[in-house]
Amino acid sequence: MQTKIVKINRENFTDIQLNEAGEIIRDGGLVAFPTETVYGLGGNAFDPEAASKIYAAKGRPSDNPLIVHIADMDGLSEIVENVPESAAKLAAAFWPGPMTLVMRKKPVVPDRTTGGLDTVAVRMPVDEIARALIRVSGVPIAAPSANRSGRPSTTTAQHCIEDLDGRIEMIIDGGSVDIGLESTIVDVTGDIPMLLRPGAITLEMLRDVLGRVDIDPAILGPMAEGVRPKAPGMKYKHYAPKAELTIVMGEPDKVRDKINELVAADIAAGRKSGVIATLESRNAYHGQTTLKVMGTRNDESTVARNLFAILREFDETGVDRIYSEGFEDTGIGRAIMNRLRKAAGYSILEVD
Ligand code: AMP
Ligand code: MG
Repeated sequence: MQTKIVKINRENFTDIQLNEAGEIIRDGGLVAFPTETVYGLGGNAFDPEAASKIYAAKGRPSDNPLIVHIADMDGLSEIVENVPESAAKLAAAFWPGPMTLVMRKKPVVPDRTTGGLDTVAVRMPVDEIARALIRVSGVPIAAPSANRSGRPSTTTAQHCIEDLDGRIEMIIDGGSVDIGLESTIVDVTGDIPMLLRPGAITLEMLRDVLGRVDIDPAILGPMAEGVRPKAPGMKYKHYAPKAELTIVMGEPDKVRDKINELVAADIAAGRKSGVIATLESRNAYHGQTTLKVMGTRNDESTVARNLFAILREFDETGVDRIYSEGFEDTGIGRAIMNRLRKAAGYSILEVD
């Protein structure tokens, strides 16, 4: 299949430029498109065949459900049985925006879109291109991240081309995304809302609106054998670079010393290694390593924005091992650490 690449200038475009993309969606085809979180791989949420095509294009297991993207609140009542009070409050506070709510689905949403679950994950994105595409398509758009299964999510159209060229009808190039990590997912079907995946809408922000919000234990550690995570995607290997990634945690000076020691040992053993640092620490690492700076600790959203691109870049450097500094599990740091831990296969070194 020939994948058409369409450039859209987010500052200055009209819906007409998305007509062909909308037609592809309505006809059961697939379009990768920018959102504020990461690029999405979209298909008609009402069409089970489109869901199957999404799983096939990504190489994703079909029990890993898709997020349904809507443009307005009318779109919500079309697909969910009822809107719990907690959902209404969160929607009022954070929609449109980088938050996904899990609710009971109506029968019009096919089982294949929800991986067989009787719930559906719904998000109203704020990105203007994403919103226009949903509007022009005239149907809600089911979209997981637009990456091949197991690879880091895509934050530029170039990443989508790397992963999906020749496998889908169209890629909309709207430039780099704003946030860089996937949406916060909250399950609002139970008595106590539960955070299933941390994101830019932080746990602290959710609690400000709702009071109590519990955390799915799958967020912090590897799933124990036989345990079913509430967000099925949490059980799969994710974001993994080709090299072995280790997160080094602890007091900043000791982390830097430890990473330098590990790099020196790699060099002595004839291995190539790389370091993921921050603006604050970049000069602390010696010159014989591939150094990449993910952002500044003064504004962790910069780290979120660059993380996936950096993990992808390392695949092109041919390093055997990567060492990354870690972050505290607060604010957006919780989302960054959740993705880093998964990318590292939970390989974490504590120094003190
Ligand atoms: P992605 O955006 O590629 O990370 O994929 C969508 C994520 O949403 C996956 O991790 C899914 O497990 C999660 N998800 C989608 N639908 C549901 C649902 N009904 N219940 C819980 N999690 C869901
Ligand atoms: Mg994904």
